[in-house]
Amino acid sequence: MHKHHSALGLATTHSTAVSAHRDGIDIAKRQPVQPVTLVRPHAAARAARFFVERFPGRSIYAVKANPSPDLLRILWDSGVTHYDVASIVEVRLVRRTLPGATLCFMHPVKAEEVIGEAYHQHGVRTFSLDSVEELDKIVRATNGADDLTLCVRLQVSSDYSKLSLGAKFGASGAEVRPLLMATRQAADALGICFHVGSQAMTPDAYSFAMERVRAAIVDAGVTVDVVDVGGGFPSSYPGMEPPPLQRYFDTIHRAFESLPISYSAELWAEPGRALCAEYSSIVVRVERRRGTELYINDGAYGALFDAAHLGWRFPVTLLREPDSRAKDLAFSFYGPTCDDLDRMAGPFLLPADVQAGDYIEVGMLGAYGAAMRTAFNGFGSDETVTVADEPMVSMYDDELPRVASNVVKL
Ligand SMILES: *Cc1c(COP(=O)(O)O)cnc(C)c1O
Repeated sequence: MHKHHSALGLATTHSTAVSAHRDGIDIAKRQPVQPVTLVRPHAAARAARFFVERFPGRSIYAVKANPSPDLLRILWDSGVTHYDVASIVEVRLVRRTLPGATLCFMHPVKAEEVIGEAYHQHGVRTFSLDSVEELDKIVRATNGADDLTLCVRLQVSSDYSKLSLGAKFGASGAEVRPLLMATRQAADALGICFHVGSQAMTPDAYSFAMERVRAAIVDAGVTVDVVDVGGGFPSSYPGMEPPPLQRYFDTIHRAFESLPISYSAELWAEPGRALCAEYSSIVVRVERRRGTELYINDGAYGALFDAAHLGWRFPVTLLREPDSRAKDLAFSFYGPTCDDLDRMAGPFLLPADVQAGDYIEVGMLGAYGAAMRTAFNGFGSDETVTVADEPMVSMYDDELPRVASNVVKL
């Protein structure tokens, strides 16, 4: 894959307020036939600095949310030194891109060969697990190493999140105590980790999970060196506007401080979505209009997987100059492939006179957008343009809206 990085080189006179969508309009004027990804390095850097400065522990970027090497370098330059990797391809990618980074292999089910390569060739020392079988694999693959940080993943509720990660991984019930005791024997440092599910809509998700951590520590009677609260930190989407992130941090800090662990224990988090959602958007073209259905040139097999399969709504704006005067109307989208599944129900609110040939910017696609793109049916595009205008919404800048303005109230 090759990217065409055609930085606009715009004279960025960011005088005061929001310069939203200006760069998208410039791109629309070129009438691109393929969807174009806009990336905003300043938005990712702002999110990273926010976590580095305000999260009361270590922030470890979950690479799967967006593995772009450009983004990895932006996060590194903004102070993120640790990376949560889940596959050997991610291990190699981060090691190659950021030779000084610390890698944490937080997938609880790994191939033994992969553990061996990560440990012996890439210097990975931190691994997660949720079973005795996995612990045995780690011990064998590292030849009984004595420098391991091993994090036992607990199963916790995903009830407060939009996307469950609660069913597949995590030790629960009677298996927790023996697993913690066995892992304590094998580990130099023992951690407990969990994931409350992605896009956690309330800080309570973390306080309930921390109660599980407390119960596990008390029950097993082990010394715990690391508590890792995982990902799940939210971004802002239409109809899913979470409380400010500082409230999540405060809740987690309080819960951590009250755990029966040593003063030297460390608090970790693995934000994915929250660090990269604002990093990119896409500019798409309307190829046809049928009533309130718009046929656009990206979709379920492109950057809009979550919009199609999870019914996720994203902020949209019509890129037209001068602005349309028409009132807003609720639209749904069809993607470019020949498949009925390639439909994004929305609703997406756009001026009622939108028509074929118009361009639309779809925002907040930096997390689980570009990363999910396929070339199914011959569609897909690698064109990426670096822009300096602001994302449509932001969790990190008080000057910017935290809620998209053109939101259908359901
Ligand atoms: C996906 C994942 C993350 C990131 O989750 P977000 O909801 O994007 O913050 C963190 N840790 C683990 C183990 C994951 O699988």
